[in-house]
Amino acid sequence: MPSSSTHQSPAGTADVATGNAHPATGNATATPAAAGTGGTVKVVQRPTLTFWERTYLPQILDGLRVTLRTLLRPTVTLEYPEQRPVIPAGYRGVPTLTRDGTGREKCVACQLCEFVCPARAITVTPGEIPPDAPAARVEKQAARFEIDMLRCIYCGLCQEVCPEEAIVLQQVYSTTGESRREFRNDKRALLELGGILPTRNHKWDAR
Ligand code: SF4
Ligand code: SF4
Repeated sequence: MPSSSTHQSPAGTADVATGNAHPATGNATATPAAAGTGGTVKVVQRPTLTFWERTYLPQILDGLRVTLRTLLRPTVTLEYPEQRPVIPAGYRGVPTLTRDGTGREKCVACQLCEFVCPARAITVTPGEIPPDAPAARVEKQAARFEIDMLRCIYCGLCQEVCPEEAIVLQQVYSTTGESRREFRNDKRALLELGGILPTRNHKWDAR
């Protein structure tokens, strides 16, 4: 005698209001939340498997067909780090500091990038340029410039706002380290990463 929460479905397969095993397939049916409370009970009809399907051989053969097809396709993976991917133009990698065509630092320590950085990853400490230095026409340069790559979200706002095109997100995408300190790129590291990026900005040249 079935319990009061079990009834026979129209297809002749019992559904179980309490989530018990299905009498025909051994599968559990969905548990109706409103049994005995006047709610609607939805009967989930399980498909009846043929003998061939019950052996799981069609599924195994399907899987082997996919494996074989993939084996014969051209390889899309790379043996990283020996093989490096081609980085598309415009890629926003690690922020770097650049020099102009004469090797001069472009940054004038205006601190706009520090102000705009949403992650507060940039620290700039302005310093004066000695009057006898070749770039003496530029009043300031960064005495300290640091970017914390654990904070940086590669948004590119620093590059957008820089009036000197000094800070540029280039194609360096791999930053690794064993301590938090190693992820703080100082001015020397940033200039090394940035290299020379000539622009047509000659406003600081002596006339
Ligand atoms: S890319 Fe964005 S988060 Fe990173 S240093 Fe520049 S402004 Fe800050
Ligand atoms: S990198 Fe550009 S925005 Fe940032 S301090 Fe230097 S000149 Fe100003």
